[in-house]
Amino acid sequence: MTCYDCELSATRTKVVFDVGDPDADLMFVGEAPGKNEDLEGEPFVGRAGQLLDSLLGDIELERAKVYIANVLKCRPPGNRDPRPGEIDACKGYLREQIRLVRPRVVVTLGNFATKLLLNTEIGITRLRGRRHDDWWMGITLIPTFHPAAALRGGDRVTDQMRDDFAVVRAALDEAEVSRTAPAPDQGRLELSG
Ligand code: URA
Repeated sequence: MTCYDCELSATRTKVVFDVGDPDADLMFVGEAPGKNEDLEGEPFVGRAGQLLDSLLGDIELERAKVYIANVLKCRPPGNRDPRPGEIDACKGYLREQIRLVRPRVVVTLGNFATKLLLNTEIGITRLRGRRHDDWWMGITLIPTFHPAAALRGGDRVTDQMRDDFAVVRAALDEAEVSRTAPAPDQGRLELSG
């Protein structure tokens, strides 16, 4: 795909849309592509991705069996934070990805994905590991830290992410989401950003 809806189109190498199984029960939403992702066109291929793969292994899953996307599909130069206008320009893609994949569980990785999808200003440290059942279309949303924060924060943050992944495993085991078409009053997911 290609897109020129925001200024990141001028500096990106590749659009990084998604990776994994579009029929997955579990979807991850990260922040934005980094350097390696921008070059390869795939989310989470760098060190943060290796940690994500390892945490997935702990709950008996692998990258090919989940679906992974980001708030922004293009790399902000120098890995700076996403800007509100960029999130605004990009959020329609994410909304459609969630609607079409319709996973049982969405895991938001870090502050940007969590704030956007929960429409909150509360920080990730307070929200992590808590289930938001029936967040949208019967989906359970569970925020956790961004793997890059665990790479910076060391064992303590990684252990907290492991705890959060155990919550994800439990939610996957329990969730009973009907895969029938959304009811007419399902409404539209309003994303702030
Ligand atoms: N960080 C993200 O948030 N997403 C990626 O795809 C890679 C690193």
